[in-house]
Amino acid sequence: MPENVQTHKCIICGRPARTPNAEYCRYCYDICMRMSWDRFPPEAIESVWEYIRTYDYVCYYTKIPLDMDNPKSPWYCVFDHWIPGDPHRIVLTCALVNDMKTEQTEDEFWYNIFQLADYKRLGKPINMKAPAGWCRLLPPLENESI
Ligand SMILES: [Zn+2]
Repeated sequence: MPENVQTHKCIICGRPARTPNAEYCRYCYDICMRMSWDRFPPEAIESVWEYIRTYDYVCYYTKIPLDMDNPKSPWYCVFDHWIPGDPHRIVLTCALVNDMKTEQTEDEFWYNIFQLADYKRLGKPINMKAPAGWCRLLPPLENESI
């Protein structure tokens, strides 16, 4: 075997690159394309890359491994706005957690998770606190001004 044969690796995660001249593996290439299509700001892109370099493809909130292949999986890798509506800090999570967290900040999300857990395990009443950004996409009521 020749001495200079190298396995070309992804510059982000270290998996084998897609092709001999590619910078990214297929996962990072897919993430790169998705961030480009969604027009993420540069600081958001860099924070996503830094997250993957540090933790690999795991959910930011639960650390479960993300499914990078099946968009129909509840564990499929999706982007989450850490603060709802703020495009500058994006984290990776799975589709299931993202659906549960919708329209909540991380603090609100965990508050509601623990409220539900205490109710389920201990029978404690839930102390309801609506997320600050709560906004359901419902048609306005008949006499409601827009
Ligand atoms: Zn990669």
